Parts: sequence; structure tokens; C-alpha cells
Amino acid sequence: MRVGMVATATGVVHHGPYCQRMTTATEFPQPVDAALMPRFGAIPTFMRLPCIEDPAQLDIALIGVPWDGGTTNRAGARHGPREIRNMSSLMRSTHHVSRISPYRLARCADMGDAPVNPINLMESLTIIERFYRPVHAAGCLPLSAGGDHLITLPIFRAIARERRVGMIHFDAHSDTWDRYFGDNRYTHGTPFRRAVEEGLLDPRRTVQIGIRGSLYGPGDMTFAEQSGMRVVYMEEFIRLGVEGTIAEARRVVGDGPTYVSFDVDGLDPAFAPGTGTPEIGGITTREAQAVLRGLQGLNLIGADVVEVAPPFDPSGSTALVAATLMFELLCLLADTVDRRRRTRGN
Ligand code: MN
Ligand code: MN
Repeated sequence: MRVGMVATATGVVHHGPYCQRMTTATEFPQPVDAALMPRFGAIPTFMRLPCIEDPAQLDIALIGVPWDGGTTNRAGARHGPREIRNMSSLMRSTHHVSRISPYRLARCADMGDAPVNPINLMESLTIIERFYRPVHAAGCLPLSAGGDHLITLPIFRAIARERRVGMIHFDAHSDTWDRYFGDNRYTHGTPFRRAVEEGLLDPRRTVQIGIRGSLYGPGDMTFAEQSGMRVVYMEEFIRLGVEGTIAEARRVVGDGPTYVSFDVDGLDPAFAPGTGTPEIGGITTREAQAVLRGLQGLNLIGADVVEVAPPFDPSGSTALVAATLMFELLCLLADTVDRRRRTRGN
């Protein structure tokens, strides 16, 4: 029994406002039991998990970053975490292919939202990083919901300072542009250029998948290509197929520490219309799920799903896509936690 939990005579554990039945197999936090409270009820948290603010109690922290101050065109991703939490109540507990049950393998909880200041970009970068630092210090893997893609930069500043990380990056855009509107270096179009410059991201262990969409100019991809990033443009993704893309992604990142960053605009807008910068001709949800499943066994250190913009998502379908991709990623991270624990022999 951990701090914050209160056992009752019925075996039901109250966790703040949440109510859960602990399994006998584990004392890990469990989602609200749908037999006790239907999935349309209760306060929505990521995957119906309890809220636990102390990362020392967790192996994996699900975190929202309600920030879209880095958005250069159609804003709205600040509303992403709340809608993704809502749609994540459709998730169940076991992956139907891998049969991974993340809540049996790892201590997972909703850690709440990182603080942001919607009218101050530089302060937001600082306070988002500060929120993630104790998560990393506790050895806890962050699984984040954006927010626009700039949020990955302060996350990297918190988790990648002591060694550069590799990245598997799904996106229609490279996000390695330099400056916007004059000399502004921090937008959702620049995070991975900044991350390379700051020594956080190893471009030679970075693979970008699904890149397409028009450019501002013919030199826009020069930084990504000359720094050594492996850019799998959408046309090559179609040629390689799911299996070829998995093999190439695994080859590029190898067995070093690797982050998975999934911008929902990497998907075709037929599947994910609720995003600020949609680009036609993209990845299908089936392909995305299949590629993610092919990443099992890598040395994963965290992941995010970004750029869900609920104002452009009236049906909630894009938030459902994001919640489902988060569950796919959660299974990969939980498997990583479990393998590391067994390797250590405890
Ligand atoms: Mn992006
Ligand atoms: Mn994008």
C-alpha cells in the first residue's frame, strides 16, 4: 500500500476522488474498474488511471502539456490533453496483439498537467522543463499528450541532458526549421533543430517518418539531411511498407536510449482532421499502429503524442486516435520497464 491510498473493508481503494479495486497479482495502480463505474462515468484521467503526483511512486507518468504558444498557424492544441483524457476512457487494459497489460507490468498513473503560461513562451519552456526534471530523476518514463510539438524540446531538456537521445519521429513535417517571424527560434516548427544544437538529440540516431507537405523553400530540409537524420519521406514510406519502415527505424536508433514522438499530422487528415497543420497523403491509423508495434524491445525512454487541436475536431475522432496511439506507446514503455526490471533481477 503506497502513500495516498486508503484500504477499505471491501478491498476497494479510494484514491483521491477515484475508486479502484487493486488486483491480487499486483499493488500497481489500476484503471477505474468498468464493472464498478462505467466508462462514461467518473472524472476523466488518462486511461482512467488514478492521479498520482509523486513520480517516485511510478514507472511511467502520463502527463498533459496544455500548450500551443509555439503554434505558427491554426492554434488549439492547448485543449488536447483534456479531450485525449476524455477519449482515453474508451481504452481497455490489455493489448489484443502483444497481450501486454501495462498496468500489470509497470506502475502507471496520470501525473496531471505540466504548468504553462499561455502568454509567455520562454517562461513556459522553463516551467515545463522544471516539471519533467523530477520525473526523470526518479527513473520514471514520461508519456505525454500535447500540446503543440514545441513541448518536446523542454521535455528533452529535462530527460536528455546527460546523454543525447535518439528519436523515432512521426510527422508530416521535419520540425527542423530555424526561425519564424524574424528572429524567433522557438516554435512548433523548430524543436528538433534546437534539440540538436543543444546537444540533446543525436541526429544520426533520428528517423523521421511520413514527411511531406510543401516547404517554404528548396533548402528547408537541408538541416535534417546534412545533420544526418534519416528522413523517410511519405513516398519512401509507401515503397518500404510497414515492415521495411520498422526495420529501418530499428537500424537507425539501434540499442541506445530512444524517444518516440508522434505528431498526429503524420497521419492522413482523413484519420486525424483535428490538427493545426493537416497534410493530405499521409499515414493510415492501421499503418501507424503496425509500425509502433514493431518497435517493441527498443531501449525506450519516453514518448509523446502531440498536435491534437480539439477546435478542429468536433467529432472527437482525432482525440480518440491520439488516446489509442498513447495506449500503443504505453504498452511499449511498460514492456521496456518490465524487461529492465527482469534484467536487473528484481
Ligand atoms: Mn510536428
Ligand atoms: Mn507536423
